[in-house]
Amino acid sequence: METDCIFCRIVGGGTDTEFIYQDEEVVVFRDIHPHAPVHLLIVPRRHVRSVNDLTEADAPLVARMILAAREAARLQGVDASGYKLLFNVEWGAGQRVFHLHLHLLAGKRWAEGG
Ligand code: AMP
Repeated sequence: METDCIFCRIVGGGTDTEFIYQDEEVVVFRDIHPHAPVHLLIVPRRHVRSVNDLTEADAPLVARMILAAREAARLQGVDASGYKLLFNVEWGAGQRVFHLHLHLLAGKRWAEGG
């Protein structure tokens, strides 16, 4: 746990953030500034700075994040209609919280390929 990391505080229960889904490895909660009607963040309990800091040993964690996203989409009722999964990797790509997270966006129509 990193004391100055907002997602570590959320994972640790130090905020009133509601978890949409949780298991031993990840938690899922709503983005505070949503970019779509459904905008969730899939966050590992363990602090990993970014995709660039993942190791080979983290492969099961990444798979767990994707499966948690799929389950959260089902719970939110957007699994069949569709959803996007997105990692922002490093500052230049828009990463602003340096605790690994996967965005799940759904509930609006995107243009072809958008
Ligand atoms: P990124 O730009 O990929 O680092 O995404 C970080 C996301 O975390 C942004 O979409 C923020 O709106 C979101 N965020 C930051 N603080 C919180 C918070 N306390 N609770 C929920 N979402 C947050």
